[in-house]
Amino acid sequence: MSLTLTVDGPRWRSHLEAVAAAHPGLVPVAKGNGYGFTLGRLARRAQWLRDRGHDVTALAVGTYDELPEVASRWDGDLLVLTPWRPWVELPEPGLRRRVVHTVSRYADLCELLTRDPEARLVLEHVTSMQRHGMTGRELWDAGGLVRGHPGAHVEGVALHLPLQHGSHLGEVNRLLVDVVAADLPARAGTTIWVSHLTDAELAALRDTYPDFSFRPRIGTQLWLGDRDALRVTATVLDVHEVERGDAFGYRSRTVPKSGHLLVVSGGTAHGIGLEAPTGEMSVKARAATLARGGLDAIGFVRSPYSIDGKQRLFAEPPHMQASMLFLPHGSRVPEVGETVDVRVRYTATAFDRVVIEG
Ligand SMILES: *Cc1c(COP(=O)(O)O)cnc(C)c1O
Repeated sequence: MSLTLTVDGPRWRSHLEAVAAAHPGLVPVAKGNGYGFTLGRLARRAQWLRDRGHDVTALAVGTYDELPEVASRWDGDLLVLTPWRPWVELPEPGLRRRVVHTVSRYADLCELLTRDPEARLVLEHVTSMQRHGMTGRELWDAGGLVRGHPGAHVEGVALHLPLQHGSHLGEVNRLLVDVVAADLPARAGTTIWVSHLTDAELAALRDTYPDFSFRPRIGTQLWLGDRDALRVTATVLDVHEVERGDAFGYRSRTVPKSGHLLVVSGGTAHGIGLEAPTGEMSVKARAATLARGGLDAIGFVRSPYSIDGKQRLFAEPPHMQASMLFLPHGSRVPEVGETVDVRVRYTATAFDRVVIEG
């Protein structure tokens, strides 16, 4: 009776292994809702990759709060992607030596090394994303500070690159000039933790900078890269035959024409949301739909549910754990208990169940 993510196990695992094999130094990213799978499951999967001999030594989480979810299911290093700030408590001693902090401001570097002179960290260099990171000048200052702290474990420099269509190579080349100029201790200055580079870009960089090692942080392409291994379904919980003019729903709206109301599992608590109205959005197009008496014209919006391959309309906005769909007369009416397909954003969906088949 749930919103379920069903995974073709053999297919998913072979995709994970293919990505790991193609990306030595891979840093799997497990953050947020665990890309739909949950953080714990991704941590165990990362451990599985490591146990299978892949070059996976660090797992990345998004925030410090996520560490407990993964720390007991994965035994390697734990990179925290959100930069450390002075108000963040240091991890408990049992975890401290496994955690690699991201440090994105010179002042934070000073503070962190004061509190834990042996902290493990990566220095984040700001990119065209302009999210977090030190400027070239700050990185240079950081280099000086780190040289004076031989106990600190600087594990490299992090670059968070935008998702973009054009090449990142020009930007990465410019950023690496700053890294070299910062004169960091050997390993720190030549290990670059990167995101969103294509395989071709990574290969080109490894070619151009043979003394550097590039560690790709990958989430989406790893966990969600083979969509055909994944299927999302909801269950039909109830079916009501309705005539034009019948009232229904929280708002007592009336049914515009005869058909069926379907109650399906999945609602706002799962992240099921309203989609854009069907068809074109222009006023003119909308007026034309109105004239034709289309269902969306009377306020029904497209839902992410599809039945027999056809995307269906919400009868009203999704409820907390269920949604109501309208099925016009003439369509095949599914039985209570049948499953229907749902198109979701995996990174924004909380599934009731994740079923790995095989
Ligand atoms: C989320 C994130 C990634 C992984 O992004 P995907 O697009 O899911 O591969 C890499 N680096 C940082 C800093 C991130 O926040």
